[in-house]
Amino acid sequence: MISHEHALRQAIVDTCRWLNTSGLNQGTSGNVSVRHNDGFLISPSATPYEMMQPEMVAHMDVAQRDGSYDGPKPPSTEWRFHRDIFAARPDVGAIVHAHSDYATALAIAHKSIPPCHYMVTAFGGHDIRCAPYARFGTQALSGHAVEALKGRMGCLLANHGMIALGHSLEQAKGYATELEALARQYWLSLQVGGPKLLTDAELEEVAEAMHEYGLALVR
Ligand SMILES: [Zn+2]
Repeated sequence: MISHEHALRQAIVDTCRWLNTSGLNQGTSGNVSVRHNDGFLISPSATPYEMMQPEMVAHMDVAQRDGSYDGPKPPSTEWRFHRDIFAARPDVGAIVHAHSDYATALAIAHKSIPPCHYMVTAFGGHDIRCAPYARFGTQALSGHAVEALKGRMGCLLANHGMIALGHSLEQAKGYATELEALARQYWLSLQVGGPKLLTDAELEEVAEAMHEYGLALVR
């Protein structure tokens, strides 16, 4: 029988491969994690996705501060923000990070996504924030990411990429796909004179309707 942990490890490998086949990512720049026991399972560092096997996925405790891990390969260089998001957000069960083109293009311009489309509210508020720049893999980047994700299921990282969260891995994949779509649609609207933003009243009405109809990206 396949254990629950093995199934989670396989799901991380499958999600890494999906990041590239879906066009959300290129190379090995994306990384994926799932909460497990007192810690989390996270994709290994610098491993081509087609070579990645479930046993290469690393396990880390949320409480560790020194990068210690279990596994044959080191975790993704972005383990700090994965750890800190799991620590700060008990509602989060999975994290997907990618350098998708349109989200990254906006992040390069340090642009948050304003309420240009009603689906922005599915991320938990009236915008999808862009976290300030800090070098990849640093504690500073992790702090910026946790701050930008307050009350949200996704954010942009300046000059870098995006993070999508979920209660489950399937939900995090859904938010990653939706975040890239919103980034593309906002970017396109900027080419034709810029968006007309939804008002606070219109956004409140959307939030109520989403609640009423159960319309979230929950899976
Ligand atoms: Zn990255």
